[in-house]
Amino acid sequence: MNSPISLVQSIDTLLPQTQCGLCGHRDGCLPYAQSIAEGEDANKCVPGGQPVADALAVLLNRSKLPAEESVWPVQADGRPQRMKAVIREDECIGCTKCISACPVDAIIGSGKLMHTVLTDLCTGCELCIPPCPVDCIDLVEDQQPLPTEAQRIAEQDDLRQRYYAHIQREEKRRTDRKGPVVRAEIDTALFARFSALNEQLPVIEVASKPENAPVSLDSKTTIELAKLRTQIKKLEKQLSVREDARKRAQLEELTQQLQALQG
Ligand code: SF4
Ligand code: SF4
Ligand code: SF4
Repeated sequence: MNSPISLVQSIDTLLPQTQCGLCGHRDGCLPYAQSIAEGEDANKCVPGGQPVADALAVLLNRSKLPAEESVWPVQADGRPQRMKAVIREDECIGCTKCISACPVDAIIGSGKLMHTVLTDLCTGCELCIPPCPVDCIDLVEDQQPLPTEAQRIAEQDDLRQRYYAHIQREEKRRTDRKGPVVRAEIDTALFARFSALNEQLPVIEVASKPENAPVSLDSKTTIELAKLRTQIKKLEKQLSVREDARKRAQLEELTQQLQALQG
């Protein structure tokens, strides 16, 4: 079902823009906003807690539902405790994997050098923690006073912009095959459509793979190709010793299958 982009936009405005994927939408807040507009329950944003679930229920004229629980305690504003990531810098090996994983570009550092989290920008989304090969990233409670409503909106707008800039950059990296790619491929088409309608957001272009780029094959196809090549080699060897009509036909069939799989 297609939902009006203006409704998706209104829903997205209420979401925290942490881009953590805890709502079940790996690519962040916008895909969840779209899915809510199409009928999904609006109580699944974990960092938003009850206030976001309630605000969405009012916007959509739906019944209020209990918000998805967080592992962190609830703060005075009804949302879960804000957290920040901290890198134990003396243990960091400078692999840069966390940089690629951070949706809002809150980590700085370059290859083989120690990395640091820019605490003000960190949302505590935890996405940098699993890719770290030496497990040197901790989460600590945010010690800052809770933001006012105006501060929260400014923060969300900033996070949204940072995420869109991140998507654009990561897409380029992905197609250019430079540096570690930690997150799975993002569905950029939705973000491109959305960013084109909002002057405040960096424009996202859907990157296309260079024409001469090798076609990426899934592991099943790769195994299938290897099997076919082995069978073909075996038949060719046998046929070089003695001609056999049945084996010749089999070889032709396998060669055709190989060509079809290679595209
Ligand atoms: S902040 Fe909420 S809506 Fe955004 S990705 Fe996280 S759980 Fe989903
Ligand atoms: S530094 Fe880690 S926890 Fe903080 S926003 Fe980036 S990925 Fe999330
Ligand atoms: S992923 Fe871990 S080891 Fe690698 S740069 Fe980041 S903090 Fe350092």
